[in-house]
Amino acid sequence: MIYLDNNATTAIDPQVAEMMAEEWKRGPANPSSQHALGRAAAARMDDAVLRMGRCIGSDLSVPGGARLILTSGGTESNNLALAGLTASDTQGFPEATESQQAAKRVLVVSEIEHASVLGFAQQAAKRGESVRYIPVSSTGVVEVKQLADVLASIPTFKDQSVVVSIMSANNETGVIQPIDQISQVCRKAGALLHVDATQTIGKVFFGVDDIPIDAVTLTAHKFHGPAGVAALWIAPGVKLLPLLFGGEQQLLTRPGTESVALAVGMARALELSVENLSASCSLMVSLRDRLETGLLEKIARIVIHGKSENRLPGTTCVSFPDTNRQSMLMALDMAGIACSSGSACSSGSSPPSHVLLAMGCPDWAVESAIRFGVSRFSTPDEITVASERICRIYNRLRSQEIVDN
Ligand code: PLP
Repeated sequence: MIYLDNNATTAIDPQVAEMMAEEWKRGPANPSSQHALGRAAAARMDDAVLRMGRCIGSDLSVPGGARLILTSGGTESNNLALAGLTASDTQGFPEATESQQAAKRVLVVSEIEHASVLGFAQQAAKRGESVRYIPVSSTGVVEVKQLADVLASIPTFKDQSVVVSIMSANNETGVIQPIDQISQVCRKAGALLHVDATQTIGKVFFGVDDIPIDAVTLTAHKFHGPAGVAALWIAPGVKLLPLLFGGEQQLLTRPGTESVALAVGMARALELSVENLSASCSLMVSLRDRLETGLLEKIARIVIHGKSENRLPGTTCVSFPDTNRQSMLMALDMAGIACSSGSACSSGSSPPSHVLLAMGCPDWAVESAIRFGVSRFSTPDEITVASERICRIYNRLRSQEIVDN
């Protein structure tokens, strides 16, 4: 099987798996326990967290400074940020009634966010919170001017929290978003900014201290770490209300016994990704370009979404004329190529891509979009074979389609 679905998840780096196995073999490890084993577990976990901070350019050792909350995945980190970021001291606390809380919160998200952000936004709207959506250009870039206009149009209240959530790069097209401009606009409007950097961190350089951002999501299984662990980085002084209650772990923000092995695995995976960043970035760009060139040479009418924009190194989203994504995906699977239709991070379903729809792509392009993602473990030979198989399968499906019609 040639694995070209690295935006959905990546293979765990063998060095990370080994380190986690060592960690599990150490024995009981509850970082909250007061005995020596617990204290040692806490020390290993704290060290893992500090190292993750260093990888994203943040010193987490300063008391009262930036912090990193470990969660179960990108979905949880995004939900925690959207539910918890607040500019108010009272919001979310029992003395504020539900309608008071709702009036004080405005959520602003782009139309191309991941389902974990859009799903939260839908629920927030049902609870009566104000939710505003920012469109994207035809090449998949968030319209910063529209964001500025929307923020300027929001009536202001005392203790109000305007929370903007924009991804650093899109998981379907790989298009990198202008977070520096978005951050400037948010600062000017006094809005809090959460960045879902799930697809970016570990693939291209991302420093949280370079641009004013209030919260950032990072997810281990996207950079060859274990699934089931992610983090939410919080800037110094930013208030975050918890989603879960009942324990004192992680500064009361995310109670529950932490997994030291997952934290250690995530830290090592991030270090390995960051250490090799320029080399792996160049490799992924060359493999992605090789795939695109191979496809374009044989199937001139394909459309590569967001190709003119700055994109993640390994991602390409391609529409194949006169075919549909589901048959293409199944035929590619049978031919030993693992990829996905535009939006499917969760397998088994393939709804039309909300990202391509937001970009205003024609129906045929939405219906026939396939996403390929290479990783630093992909090889030129794999890409050559994959490109040949994709073209062969496309030609077969297309001739069937023409006969059927
Ligand atoms: N955000 C983005 C941009 C993603 O691509 C994904 C997963 O594909 C997530 C969030 C959710 O991450 P997880 O599956 O770890 O919950």
